[in-house]
Amino acid sequence: MRICDSCHGGCCRKYNPDITGIDMLKIAQSMKLDINFFATAIPVDDEYLRLALGKKPLFIFTDSKKEQYYRFSLKMEESILFPGTYKCIFINETDAKGLGSKLYDNIISRCSIYHVRPLTCKTFPAQINPQTGQAVIFDPYKISSEEDNPAYRLCPGPVKMEDYKEFQEQMVKDLVAYDYEMLFFLKLAEKWNKNPDLSDYFIDFMEKEYKNRVEHITE
Ligand code: SF4
Ligand code: SF4
Repeated sequence: MRICDSCHGGCCRKYNPDITGIDMLKIAQSMKLDINFFATAIPVDDEYLRLALGKKPLFIFTDSKKEQYYRFSLKMEESILFPGTYKCIFINETDAKGLGSKLYDNIISRCSIYHVRPLTCKTFPAQINPQTGQAVIFDPYKISSEEDNPAYRLCPGPVKMEDYKEFQEQMVKDLVAYDYEMLFFLKLAEKWNKNPDLSDYFIDFMEKEYKNRVEHITE
């Protein structure tokens, strides 16, 4: 059994993951959903901007009539089974014991868009070490403090390599795709920010840019 199978989905509650344009387009297409239904632009503060500008896709929207940068993420909503806490809108939560499960006695969560979940979700908790090119898996359990609200605790126990053994090849492919898509979205942000506009116009702009992202050889 994989470690995530018995989890309440702490990572889908604690974090508000960055998403890219391709994540938004794939979810919208696969789930037949308007992008505005599930994606949100979150204003970033000065400290975040100082650390992330030029490294992460941050977009200027002129809605507030001042130069404000935003990052894209999935929307969160209040959890029913962990009152007073928040969760990704795509996570389904179930009280396993209450429903008579013999396998689990806790709250079990499942991603309802697993087949098109964003690359940030697919690759968590791994990233590529730029020095070695190897994938490195972090142990989220170690950074999850006892003081945290139980909803936001990460992983039922320490993450082991065997949890990822059968997914190693796919994990590396997803990490490469993640880096590529983040870079493409970063370039898109730079293009948008040269002539920033109201957020209402962004989705049309983004869709056009993604439709044209394969260039024809002209010679
Ligand atoms: S999209 Fe799925 S995997 Fe990603 S945070 Fe939401 S519920 Fe979790
Ligand atoms: S918190 Fe850990 S075990 Fe739980 S879903 Fe996320 S990665 Fe899996």
